[in-house]
Amino acid sequence: MFSPDVMVVGGGLAGCEAAWQLARRGLKVSLVEQKPGRISPAHTTPLLGELVCSNSLRSDDPAAPAGLLKAELRRAGSLIVACADAARVPAGDALAVDRQLFSRGITVALALEPNVRLERRPLDRLPETMPCILAGGPLVGGGVQRELRKLCGDRFYFYDAIAPIVEADSIDWAHAFRGSRYKETAEGDYVNCPLQRDQYHAFVREIRTAKKVLPHAFEEPRYFEGCLPIEVMAERGDDVLAFGPMKPVGLKTDAFAVVQLRAENRYATSFNLVGFQTRLTYPEQKRIFAMIPALANAEWLRFGSIHRNSYIESWRLLGPGLELKVRPNLQLAGQITGVEGYIESTAMGLLAALFLHGRLSGQPMAPPPPTTAFGALYQHLMRPRQPGEAFQPTNINFGLLPPLTGNGSKAKKRDRRALHAQRAAADFTPWLANGATRS
Ligand SMILES: Cc1cc2nc3c(=O)[nH]c(=O)nc-3n(C[C@H](O)[C@H](O)[C@H](O)COP(=O)(O)OP(=O)(O)OC[C@H]3O[C@@H](n4cnc5c(N)ncnc54)[C@H](O)[C@@H]3O)c2cc1C
Repeated sequence: MFSPDVMVVGGGLAGCEAAWQLARRGLKVSLVEQKPGRISPAHTTPLLGELVCSNSLRSDDPAAPAGLLKAELRRAGSLIVACADAARVPAGDALAVDRQLFSRGITVALALEPNVRLERRPLDRLPETMPCILAGGPLVGGGVQRELRKLCGDRFYFYDAIAPIVEADSIDWAHAFRGSRYKETAEGDYVNCPLQRDQYHAFVREIRTAKKVLPHAFEEPRYFEGCLPIEVMAERGDDVLAFGPMKPVGLKTDAFAVVQLRAENRYATSFNLVGFQTRLTYPEQKRIFAMIPALANAEWLRFGSIHRNSYIESWRLLGPGLELKVRPNLQLAGQITGVEGYIESTAMGLLAALFLHGRLSGQPMAPPPPTTAFGALYQHLMRPRQPGEAFQPTNINFGLLPPLTGNGSKAKKRDRRALHAQRAAADFTPWLANGATRS
């Protein structure tokens, strides 16, 4: 008789990875997937590990952030990346897959794994005592969503509203100045990017006519008044942005409007555009934000977006093993933790499994080093926020990694990326050997 040690809820990318890692370490896993009986508006097949949109797992170059994360996933024996490698289709530097082959590979691998029992049913009550990893994804619904809401209160979100992030060393400082509103200090926490009246009005005109990403059928565009997309504000009137996130008041400037940038990480190597959540398409963001003089040659680490997305405020709610502090037997994994994207969710599934296995085997696993892609994502979830600093989901980017030190900090950009990858590899292997590969 199959008597499970642990339950994994959700047979998406994170849940499948977690179930595989636990099973390979000898734990008996009940993997509960609601499809095909109940299906989210984005899923269409009964297969496990379904890709709901693009068939690309992004760059496979280890000197690119997504490539670095995949390199670490491969080193950790990821099922998802192994199935992606086996289903690869030509896509230049990117790892793109035949989506049917990819998901079939995952489904078959788990069906053949004797330590996994796949239960095809929607789960509406989370187990009270059995250790459980919840990986219900960005569209988790039903009873589990209600229960999570009760456990997390108003720290459980249904939409993300992400502002773009720019690399610090691509800001043109000839057109930017430091300063916090109404503060006299010379330094100031914000980088202010002024626009003169004509520049501002041209900027607003372009935002109004720019291409926007249309919401999916299941995404009702309901916005909080305090967190409106810039295009909605631009539509409401010529000066609405200038009286909103672009107001110049309290700053030493005679500019008509100011875009404020706030440090995105504690190293101040990247900055977000405060209040610039948007549904403009990525190419339009690149084109229109270049009209801000200080950002004319900006390098973007991430563009803004707004999606239907369930996620929790991890840094407040989770303990170091990604367990809910109020219910330590329940760990969260995947996109619901506040990462974004296929491979990021996979990594958080793998990590949750390593933590759970470590705990159950009496050899707790240390968090991944912050210099690795795993560690950078983990830090993003767990780092305490400053008052007023919003917690927003992220995909992997170099802005999450600590800056290089010594000669590395002076290297050219392309070389710096390779150095990041080398440092990450050097730190990831011993961390992994210290527990993750135990079986
Ligand atoms: C419309 C849309 C488009 C996207 N496009 C992209 C893209 O192009 N590229 C990209 O990298 N990322 C994209 N994402 C994000 C990506 O889908 C997620 O990052 C990734 O799939 C999350 O993995 P996950 O395992 O956390 O959740 P999922 O892959 O969504 O898996 C969750 C699983 O849990 C199951 N489940 C949910 N609730 C229950 C329950 N109560 N009981 C049992 N089973 C349950 C679901 O059926 C599903 O199989 C997109 C997301 C959406 C919604």
